[in-house]
Amino acid sequence: MNKTETIENFQIKYKKHVFSKSIKISLKKDDFILVTMPYICPYKTAREFLISNFEKIKNFNLNKKIIPQDFKTKFDTLKIIPSDELKTIKKDRIIHFHYPKSEDFSSNQIQKELSKAYLEALKIEAKNYLVQRLEFLAKKFNFKYNKTSLRNQRTRFGSCSYQNNISLNINLMKYDFDVIDYVLIHELCHTKVKNHSKNFWKEVEKYCPNYKELRKKLKTNY
Ligand SMILES: [Zn+2]
Repeated sequence: MNKTETIENFQIKYKKHVFSKSIKISLKKDDFILVTMPYICPYKTAREFLISNFEKIKNFNLNKKIIPQDFKTKFDTLKIIPSDELKTIKKDRIIHFHYPKSEDFSSNQIQKELSKAYLEALKIEAKNYLVQRLEFLAKKFNFKYNKTSLRNQRTRFGSCSYQNNISLNINLMKYDFDVIDYVLIHELCHTKVKNHSKNFWKEVEKYCPNYKELRKKLKTNY
């Protein structure tokens, strides 16, 4: 029997494994954690082990997996430069990330700074692109919303409140433009229909006929 549960937006799956000699935790996706354990190990023990390491796992997000090579975001380039010090300089559309070449690139400190630089780039792009694009699509299709805010979330790409305030995930910038448009249209349609009923999807389809395909891309390409 396999067990699953949700902790703080993470889907946790516990699995007993024939060849497993110890409890192992792996972050499979941004929001999915697999815990494997030997058959003789009680689920309770594995869960306690997970809980005691949860903070550490939480901080090990996808951004941390960036390897030391230049990285292109939608509009910017993150240039990794072996140097004497740890610093980030943003110039035009290039982010120069300097790190001390004498140090291990995978060290916590360097990875943390790199995540910060990357996140900063995403934030700026989201501010410039997402907010304007939402405005553009709203005008084009005649939607009315209140305010826009940007967030760095793990599981949600966007939301629309009862007051029609739309919140968007800056990580959307990691996706293709057509996928981004789908999410924006999805949230705009929520200004008219608050649920995910048939009527809602009909509305989405009006403005985004291939929404099913784009939705799939959103789920798999993260
Ligand atoms: Zn929705």
